[in-house]
Amino acid sequence: MAQPYNRIYNFSAGPSTLPVPVLEQARDEMLNFGGTGMGVMEMSHRSKAYEQIIKSAEADLRTLLSIPDNYKVLFLQGGASMQFSMVPMAFLRGGTADYVVTGAWGKKAVEAGNLEGNANVLWDGKSGAYSDIVELESLRFSQRAKYVHFTTNETIQGVEYHQDPSVSVPLVCDMSSDICSRPVDILKYDLIYAGAQKNMGPAGLTLVIVKDEFLDKVPDGMHPMFDYRLQAENESMYNTPPTFGIYICGLVTKYLLNTGGLEGALKRNREKAQVIYDAIDNSNGFFKPHAVQRARSLMNVTFTLPDEEKTKEFIKLTESKGLDGLKGHRSVGGCRASIYNAFPIEGCEVLAETMREFAAR
Ligand code: PMP
Repeated sequence: MAQPYNRIYNFSAGPSTLPVPVLEQARDEMLNFGGTGMGVMEMSHRSKAYEQIIKSAEADLRTLLSIPDNYKVLFLQGGASMQFSMVPMAFLRGGTADYVVTGAWGKKAVEAGNLEGNANVLWDGKSGAYSDIVELESLRFSQRAKYVHFTTNETIQGVEYHQDPSVSVPLVCDMSSDICSRPVDILKYDLIYAGAQKNMGPAGLTLVIVKDEFLDKVPDGMHPMFDYRLQAENESMYNTPPTFGIYICGLVTKYLLNTGGLEGALKRNREKAQVIYDAIDNSNGFFKPHAVQRARSLMNVTFTLPDEEKTKEFIKLTESKGLDGLKGHRSVGGCRASIYNAFPIEGCEVLAETMREFAAR
Protein backbone atom coordinates (compact mmCIF):
# COMPACT_ATOMS: atom_id res chain seq x y z
CA MET A 1 0.00 0.00 0.00
CA ALA A 2 1.34 3.41 -0.95
CA GLN A 3 2.31 5.72 1.85
CA PRO A 4 1.08 9.31 2.01
CA TYR A 5 3.09 11.87 0.01
CA ASN A 6 4.87 9.04 -1.84
CA ARG A 7 7.02 8.51 1.19
CA ILE A 8 9.15 5.39 1.24
CA TYR A 9 9.85 3.04 4.13
CA ASN A 10 12.80 4.76 5.74
CA PHE A 11 14.82 2.41 7.94
CA SER A 12 17.45 5.02 8.71
CA ALA A 13 19.21 4.69 12.07
CA GLY A 14 18.82 8.41 12.66
CA PRO A 15 17.81 11.02 11.79
CA SER A 16 14.79 8.96 11.00
CA THR A 17 11.09 8.80 10.27
CA LEU A 18 8.82 11.22 12.14
CA PRO A 19 5.06 10.82 12.58
CA VAL A 20 3.25 12.14 9.50
CA PRO A 21 0.66 14.11 11.55
CA VAL A 22 3.54 15.91 13.27
CA LEU A 23 5.12 16.83 9.95
CA GLU A 24 1.77 17.98 8.64
CA GLN A 25 1.17 20.22 11.62
CA ALA A 26 4.69 21.66 11.35
CA ARG A 27 4.05 22.30 7.65
CA ASP A 28 0.75 24.02 8.36
CA GLU A 29 2.34 26.22 11.02
CA MET A 30 5.57 26.84 9.13
CA LEU A 31 4.79 30.37 7.96
CA ASN A 32 2.44 31.54 10.67
CA PHE A 33 2.40 29.87 14.04
CA GLY A 34 -0.83 30.27 15.98
CA GLY A 35 -1.65 33.66 14.48
CA THR A 36 1.67 35.21 15.53
CA GLY A 37 2.40 36.16 11.92
CA MET A 38 5.70 34.29 11.93
CA GLY A 39 7.01 30.74 11.93
CA VAL A 40 8.56 29.07 14.99
CA MET A 41 12.00 29.17 13.36
CA GLU A 42 11.74 32.92 13.04
CA MET A 43 10.52 33.88 16.48
CA SER A 44 12.52 35.10 19.44
CA HIS A 45 13.20 32.42 21.98
CA ARG A 46 12.28 35.04 24.59
CA SER A 47 8.86 35.74 23.08
CA LYS A 48 5.60 34.87 24.85
CA ALA A 49 4.64 32.49 22.04
CA TYR A 50 7.91 30.60 22.29
CA GLU A 51 7.78 30.50 26.06
CA GLN A 52 4.49 28.66 25.68
CA ILE A 53 6.04 26.19 23.21
CA ILE A 54 8.99 25.25 25.41
CA LYS A 55 6.93 25.16 28.60
CA SER A 56 4.35 22.82 27.12
CA ALA A 57 7.02 20.65 25.49
CA GLU A 58 8.55 20.18 28.93
CA ALA A 59 5.20 19.66 30.67
CA ASP A 60 4.14 17.06 28.11
CA LEU A 61 7.48 15.24 28.34
CA ARG A 62 7.07 15.15 32.11
CA THR A 63 3.65 13.57 31.67
CA LEU A 64 4.72 11.14 28.96
CA LEU A 65 7.83 9.90 30.77
CA SER A 66 6.41 10.33 34.31
CA ILE A 67 9.31 12.56 35.27
CA PRO A 68 9.13 13.42 38.97
CA ASP A 69 9.38 17.02 40.22
CA ASN A 70 12.83 16.49 41.67
CA TYR A 71 14.27 16.02 38.18
CA LYS A 72 15.15 18.79 35.74
CA VAL A 73 14.45 18.52 32.04
CA LEU A 74 17.06 20.27 29.89
CA PHE A 75 16.98 20.99 26.19
CA LEU A 76 20.61 21.18 25.13
CA GLN A 77 22.68 20.92 21.95
CA GLY A 78 25.81 19.12 20.85
CA GLY A 79 24.21 15.70 20.47
CA ALA A 80 24.65 12.70 22.70
CA SER A 81 28.34 12.92 21.76
CA MET A 82 28.68 16.11 23.75
CA GLN A 83 27.14 14.34 26.72
CA PHE A 84 29.98 11.79 26.50
CA SER A 85 32.18 14.71 27.60
CA MET A 86 29.77 16.82 29.62
CA VAL A 87 28.97 14.02 32.07
CA PRO A 88 32.59 13.32 33.06
CA MET A 89 33.47 17.04 33.03
CA ALA A 90 30.79 17.61 35.65
CA PHE A 91 30.82 14.40 37.64
CA LEU A 92 34.08 12.47 37.12
CA ARG A 93 36.73 15.13 37.65
CA GLY A 94 39.76 12.95 38.27
CA GLY A 95 37.82 10.23 40.04
CA THR A 96 36.63 6.82 38.91
CA ALA A 97 33.39 5.94 37.18
CA ASP A 98 32.30 2.55 35.91
CA TYR A 99 31.30 2.10 32.29
CA VAL A 100 29.38 -0.85 30.92
CA VAL A 101 30.15 -1.20 27.24
CA THR A 102 27.59 -3.09 25.20
CA GLY A 103 28.49 -1.55 21.86
CA ALA A 104 30.11 1.19 19.83
CA TRP A 105 28.49 4.15 21.54
CA GLY A 106 29.38 3.00 25.03
CA LYS A 107 32.97 2.71 23.85
CA LYS A 108 32.93 6.30 22.64
CA ALA A 109 31.62 7.40 26.02
CA VAL A 110 34.60 5.69 27.67
CA GLU A 111 37.08 7.48 25.40
CA ALA A 112 35.68 10.87 26.40
CA GLY A 113 35.44 9.87 30.06
CA ASN A 114 39.12 8.97 30.18
CA LEU A 115 40.02 12.57 29.38
CA GLU A 116 38.52 13.60 32.72
CA GLY A 117 39.50 10.74 35.01
CA ASN A 118 39.35 6.99 35.18
CA ALA A 119 36.53 5.70 33.01
CA ASN A 120 36.79 2.14 34.21
CA VAL A 121 35.39 -0.43 31.80
CA LEU A 122 33.60 -2.74 34.19
CA TRP A 123 32.18 -4.96 31.49
CA ASP A 124 32.79 -5.04 27.76
CA GLY A 125 30.78 -7.15 25.33
CA LYS A 126 33.56 -7.13 22.75
CA SER A 127 34.46 -10.83 23.06
CA GLY A 128 30.88 -11.68 22.16
CA ALA A 129 30.91 -9.21 19.26
CA TYR A 130 28.54 -7.00 21.26
CA SER A 131 25.65 -9.39 20.83
CA ASP A 132 24.57 -9.41 24.48
CA ILE A 133 24.03 -7.20 27.50
CA VAL A 134 24.96 -7.75 31.12
CA GLU A 135 22.69 -7.28 34.12
CA LEU A 136 24.04 -4.27 35.94
CA GLU A 137 22.88 -5.84 39.21
CA SER A 138 25.40 -8.66 38.70
CA LEU A 139 28.41 -6.32 38.63
CA ARG A 140 30.67 -5.19 41.47
CA PHE A 141 31.10 -1.46 41.14
CA SER A 142 34.35 0.31 41.93
CA GLN A 143 34.72 1.72 45.40
CA ARG A 144 33.76 5.37 45.37
CA ALA A 145 32.55 5.15 41.79
CA LYS A 146 31.12 8.56 40.92
CA TYR A 147 28.59 6.93 38.67
CA VAL A 148 27.98 3.97 36.42
CA HIS A 149 27.33 4.65 32.75
CA PHE A 150 25.55 2.40 30.28
CA THR A 151 23.65 2.56 27.00
CA THR A 152 20.07 1.27 27.02
CA ASN A 153 20.09 0.58 23.30
CA GLU A 154 23.22 0.18 21.23
CA THR A 155 22.08 1.50 17.88
CA ILE A 156 24.79 -0.11 15.75
CA GLN A 157 24.78 -3.61 17.23
CA GLY A 158 21.06 -3.67 18.02
CA VAL A 159 21.28 -4.79 21.65
CA GLU A 160 18.90 -3.32 24.18
CA TYR A 161 18.07 -3.42 27.86
CA HIS A 162 14.38 -4.07 28.36
CA GLN A 163 14.37 -3.37 32.09
CA ASP A 164 15.56 -0.45 34.15
CA PRO A 165 18.48 -1.54 36.32
CA SER A 166 18.46 -1.06 40.09
CA VAL A 167 21.89 -0.12 41.35
CA SER A 168 23.33 1.57 44.41
CA VAL A 169 25.66 3.87 42.44
CA PRO A 170 24.40 6.99 40.61
CA LEU A 171 23.16 5.72 37.29
CA VAL A 172 23.91 7.65 34.08
CA CYS A 173 22.42 6.45 30.86
CA ASP A 174 22.64 7.14 27.16
CA MET A 175 19.05 6.59 25.99
CA SER A 176 19.54 8.14 22.55
CA SER A 177 18.02 5.37 20.49
CA ASP A 178 15.21 4.09 22.67
CA ILE A 179 13.96 7.04 24.67
CA CYS A 180 10.16 7.27 24.58
CA SER A 181 9.91 3.80 23.07
CA ARG A 182 8.76 2.19 26.32
CA PRO A 183 7.80 3.21 29.85
CA VAL A 184 10.85 4.00 31.96
CA ASP A 185 11.20 4.23 35.72
CA ILE A 186 12.99 7.58 35.86
CA LEU A 187 13.61 7.16 39.59
CA LYS A 188 16.17 4.47 38.81
CA TYR A 189 18.36 7.02 37.02
CA ASP A 190 20.36 10.04 38.11
CA LEU A 191 20.98 11.37 34.62
CA ILE A 192 19.53 10.35 31.28
CA TYR A 193 20.59 11.90 28.00
CA ALA A 194 19.41 11.36 24.46
CA GLY A 195 19.86 12.93 21.06
CA ALA A 196 16.41 13.72 19.69
CA GLN A 197 16.90 12.49 16.15
CA LYS A 198 15.49 8.99 16.51
CA ASN A 199 12.34 9.03 18.58
CA MET A 200 11.76 12.67 19.43
CA GLY A 201 12.43 15.03 16.58
CA PRO A 202 15.17 16.50 14.42
CA ALA A 203 18.90 16.41 15.05
CA GLY A 204 20.32 19.34 16.98
CA LEU A 205 18.37 18.84 20.18
CA THR A 206 19.66 16.80 23.10
CA LEU A 207 17.37 15.96 25.97
CA VAL A 208 18.83 15.65 29.47
CA ILE A 209 16.83 14.49 32.48
CA VAL A 210 18.75 14.94 35.70
CA LYS A 211 17.97 14.41 39.36
CA ASP A 212 18.33 17.51 41.57
CA GLU A 213 20.49 15.67 44.06
CA PHE A 214 22.93 14.70 41.31
CA LEU A 215 22.85 18.19 39.86
CA ASP A 216 24.00 19.53 43.25
CA LYS A 217 27.30 17.70 42.71
CA VAL A 218 28.23 19.88 39.75
CA PRO A 219 31.15 21.97 40.96
CA ASP A 220 31.53 25.71 40.62
CA GLY A 221 33.71 27.09 37.86
CA MET A 222 32.45 24.99 34.97
CA HIS A 223 32.50 26.47 31.49
CA PRO A 224 29.01 27.92 31.22
CA MET A 225 27.75 25.90 28.27
CA PHE A 226 28.94 22.67 29.93
CA ASP A 227 27.43 23.52 33.28
CA TYR A 228 24.28 21.48 33.87
CA ARG A 229 23.43 23.59 36.89
CA LEU A 230 23.62 26.84 34.96
CA GLN A 231 21.59 25.34 32.14
CA ALA A 232 18.96 24.27 34.66
CA GLU A 233 18.92 27.65 36.42
CA ASN A 234 18.35 29.29 33.04
CA GLU A 235 15.66 26.77 32.06
CA SER A 236 17.64 25.75 28.95
CA MET A 237 17.80 29.41 27.86
CA TYR A 238 21.36 30.30 28.84
CA ASN A 239 21.90 30.81 25.15
CA THR A 240 19.56 30.44 22.18
CA PRO A 241 18.18 26.92 22.45
CA PRO A 242 17.43 24.73 19.42
CA THR A 243 14.02 26.33 19.13
CA PHE A 244 12.63 24.43 16.16
CA GLY A 245 13.80 21.07 17.49
CA ILE A 246 12.12 21.71 20.83
CA TYR A 247 8.92 22.65 19.02
CA ILE A 248 8.95 19.42 16.99
CA CYS A 249 9.84 17.41 20.09
CA GLY A 250 6.77 18.96 21.72
CA LEU A 251 4.57 17.91 18.80
CA VAL A 252 5.98 14.37 18.85
CA THR A 253 5.38 14.17 22.60
CA LYS A 254 1.77 15.31 22.22
CA TYR A 255 1.31 12.79 19.43
CA LEU A 256 2.59 10.00 21.68
CA LEU A 257 0.33 11.11 24.52
CA ASN A 258 -2.63 10.97 22.15
CA THR A 259 -1.77 7.49 20.86
CA GLY A 260 -1.64 5.50 24.07
CA GLY A 261 1.47 6.98 25.69
CA LEU A 262 4.54 4.86 26.20
CA GLU A 263 2.54 1.69 26.89
CA GLY A 264 1.00 2.14 23.46
CA ALA A 265 4.40 2.81 21.90
CA LEU A 266 5.88 -0.30 23.50
CA LYS A 267 3.03 -2.47 22.28
CA ARG A 268 3.45 -1.22 18.73
CA ASN A 269 7.23 -1.51 18.90
CA ARG A 270 7.00 -5.12 20.09
CA GLU A 271 4.63 -6.03 17.28
CA LYS A 272 6.79 -4.33 14.67
CA ALA A 273 10.03 -5.94 15.79
CA GLN A 274 8.36 -9.34 16.07
CA VAL A 275 7.42 -9.24 12.38
CA ILE A 276 11.09 -8.94 11.40
CA TYR A 277 12.52 -11.26 14.06
CA ASP A 278 9.99 -13.90 12.96
CA ALA A 279 11.21 -13.57 9.39
CA ILE A 280 14.78 -14.09 10.64
CA ASP A 281 13.90 -17.04 12.88
CA ASN A 282 11.84 -18.77 10.22
CA SER A 283 14.49 -18.51 7.50
CA ASN A 284 16.22 -21.82 8.37
CA GLY A 285 19.37 -19.97 9.27
CA PHE A 286 19.61 -17.99 6.04
CA PHE A 287 19.25 -14.76 8.00
CA LYS A 288 21.16 -14.78 11.27
CA PRO A 289 20.25 -12.44 14.13
CA HIS A 290 23.16 -10.49 15.55
CA ALA A 291 21.81 -10.09 19.08
CA VAL A 292 21.09 -12.95 21.46
CA GLN A 293 17.42 -13.40 22.29
CA ARG A 294 17.23 -11.49 25.56
CA ALA A 295 19.12 -8.51 24.18
CA ARG A 296 17.25 -8.16 20.89
CA SER A 297 16.56 -4.52 20.24
CA LEU A 298 13.06 -3.36 19.40
CA MET A 299 14.55 -0.30 17.73
CA ASN A 300 17.39 -1.63 15.57
CA VAL A 301 16.98 -5.16 14.24
CA THR A 302 20.40 -6.40 13.13
CA PHE A 303 20.98 -9.52 11.06
CA THR A 304 23.42 -10.98 8.60
CA LEU A 305 23.20 -13.04 5.41
CA PRO A 306 25.49 -15.92 4.34
CA ASP A 307 27.96 -13.67 2.50
CA GLU A 308 28.73 -10.20 1.23
CA GLU A 309 27.44 -10.88 -2.25
CA LYS A 310 24.02 -12.05 -1.05
CA THR A 311 23.85 -9.08 1.29
CA LYS A 312 24.40 -6.69 -1.61
CA GLU A 313 21.84 -8.52 -3.72
CA PHE A 314 19.31 -8.44 -0.91
CA ILE A 315 19.79 -4.72 -0.26
CA LYS A 316 19.28 -4.12 -3.95
CA LEU A 317 16.02 -6.04 -3.86
CA THR A 318 14.80 -4.09 -0.82
CA GLU A 319 15.60 -0.81 -2.57
CA SER A 320 13.58 -1.87 -5.58
CA LYS A 321 10.62 -2.22 -3.21
CA GLY A 322 10.99 1.23 -1.72
CA LEU A 323 12.77 0.12 1.44
CA ASP A 324 15.60 2.49 2.26
CA GLY A 325 18.51 2.45 4.70
CA LEU A 326 18.81 -1.25 5.47
CA LYS A 327 22.55 -1.59 4.98
CA GLY A 328 24.12 -2.51 8.31
CA HIS A 329 26.87 -0.50 9.92
CA ARG A 330 30.25 -1.51 8.49
CA SER A 331 31.42 -2.79 11.89
CA VAL A 332 28.63 -5.39 12.05
CA GLY A 333 27.91 -5.93 8.36
CA GLY A 334 24.67 -7.42 7.09
CA CYS A 335 21.50 -5.43 7.57
CA ARG A 336 20.01 -3.16 10.17
CA ALA A 337 16.34 -2.28 10.22
CA SER A 338 15.85 0.78 12.40
CA ILE A 339 12.19 0.90 13.31
CA TYR A 340 11.75 3.69 15.83
CA ASN A 341 8.35 4.79 17.17
CA ALA A 342 7.21 6.52 14.01
CA PHE A 343 8.13 3.71 11.64
CA PRO A 344 4.93 2.01 10.38
CA ILE A 345 4.30 -1.70 10.86
CA GLU A 346 3.44 -2.00 7.16
CA GLY A 347 7.10 -1.31 6.39
CA CYS A 348 8.13 -4.18 8.66
CA GLU A 349 5.69 -6.43 6.85
CA VAL A 350 7.06 -5.49 3.43
CA LEU A 351 10.59 -6.15 4.70
CA ALA A 352 9.60 -9.55 6.14
CA GLU A 353 7.90 -10.49 2.89
CA THR A 354 11.00 -9.46 0.94
CA MET A 355 13.17 -11.54 3.26
CA ARG A 356 10.99 -14.60 2.68
CA GLU A 357 11.05 -14.03 -1.06
CA PHE A 358 14.84 -13.68 -1.14
CA ALA A 359 15.54 -16.70 1.10
CA ALA A 360 13.25 -18.85 -1.06
CA ARG A 361 15.25 -18.12 -4.20
N1 PMP B 1 24.57 7.24 21.50
C1 PMP B 1 23.76 6.46 20.77
C2 PMP B 1 23.14 5.25 21.41
C3 PMP B 1 23.54 6.77 19.42
O1 PMP B 1 22.75 6.00 18.69
C4 PMP B 1 24.14 7.92 18.86
C5 PMP B 1 23.90 8.34 17.43
N2 PMP B 1 23.53 7.40 16.56
C6 PMP B 1 24.97 8.70 19.68
C7 PMP B 1 25.15 8.33 20.99
C8 PMP B 1 25.64 9.92 19.14
O2 PMP B 1 24.68 10.85 18.99
P1 PMP B 1 24.92 12.27 18.29
O3 PMP B 1 25.19 12.00 16.87
O4 PMP B 1 23.62 12.95 18.54
O5 PMP B 1 26.04 12.93 18.99
